[in-house]
Amino acid sequence: MNTASDARAALHGFLHRHTKFLLTTHVNPDGDAIGSEVAFARWLLARGKQVRILNDSPTPRAFAWLTDENPIECWTEALAEERFAEADALVVLDTGNKARIGRLAKHLELHAIAVAIVDHHVTHDGFGQVNVIEPQQASASSLVFELMREADWTPDTRAAEALYVGLSTDTGNFRYSNTDAAAHRMAAALVEAGVDPQDATARVSATAPPGRLRFFGEVLAGLQMLEDGRVVVIEAAPEQFERHGLSGSDTEGLVDLPRTIAGVEVVALFSEVEPDKVKVSLRSTGRVSIDQVCSRLGGGGHPHAAGVPLRGSREDAKAKILPELGKLLAALDAAPPAGARG
Ligand code: AMP
Ligand code: MN
Ligand code: MN
Repeated sequence: MNTASDARAALHGFLHRHTKFLLTTHVNPDGDAIGSEVAFARWLLARGKQVRILNDSPTPRAFAWLTDENPIECWTEALAEERFAEADALVVLDTGNKARIGRLAKHLELHAIAVAIVDHHVTHDGFGQVNVIEPQQASASSLVFELMREADWTPDTRAAEALYVGLSTDTGNFRYSNTDAAAHRMAAALVEAGVDPQDATARVSATAPPGRLRFFGEVLAGLQMLEDGRVVVIEAAPEQFERHGLSGSDTEGLVDLPRTIAGVEVVALFSEVEPDKVKVSLRSTGRVSIDQVCSRLGGGGHPHAAGVPLRGSREDAKAKILPELGKLLAALDAAPPAGARG
């Protein structure tokens, strides 16, 4: 039988067996992606392994400080060829979808390299020889922390900071529905390992240029309420990114702000960074699951936080997404009240 503990045992064997590791994560990495990579790298280095980290996309400003001692390289054709040629194993963190590692995916076809996945997404294709994919984990960093403990490794302060950033960003600073007792226990252990929560949080959140807040203000000023106030739609145009000197990763946190409006079930952000390239981000406040709306269109995520990149205008994207949200709310209306069965 293939159980979660079998997969974890297989991963420990994988880490033991191999010596030259390449780590990667999903395109447009977030705090959990970078945090889990840095912590994983430090763990492997402490075991005498060789480690490189190579991502498709650059590290967002907010998380760059985590990489001071463990640099993360950004894809170029030549660099990727070199890194794949010298490694004997690839560990993919915070995604289990091959397409989500971006331009690294094609190098996988060309190199006989063993692959292990350490992820917590519901939507995954599990393309590794070893797949440790546990959707009940609040963050990939949480899973990495449990794996470290199983191997009797206590993270040093830098690794603990990286894990703390992964956990705190993926739980929205311990506010989302994935915040459970395990998340708080892990936070406590990381603080005991030397993390200063105030400092770590400030380093992540207090990195924005003033234009980012003006941009948030503009986008929020244009918010629309649909479905009797249960769906909030916000959108950002290429011109706004350009005028404020921002990139796609600068929208981090924006989609979460309208959740504070009373009665909201779903927030949808349509972020058009370049003309006809729209990144859709959906958030549910808890009663409806929105991951399938994204996975049906080629994206994915978690029941209460999901995304999908779409080609076409923001109007095209809205036409694909908003009717689906309407259906989810209609299903909610039709469902018997909690407790009433049969
Ligand atoms: P975002 O809206 O980009 O912050 O993403 C919310 C959640 O959905 C995160 O856990 C992402 O990792 C996940 N996600 C976003 N886009 C995709 C995608 N194209 N495929 C799979 N998962 C995604
Ligand atoms: Mn992520
Ligand atoms: Mn994650």
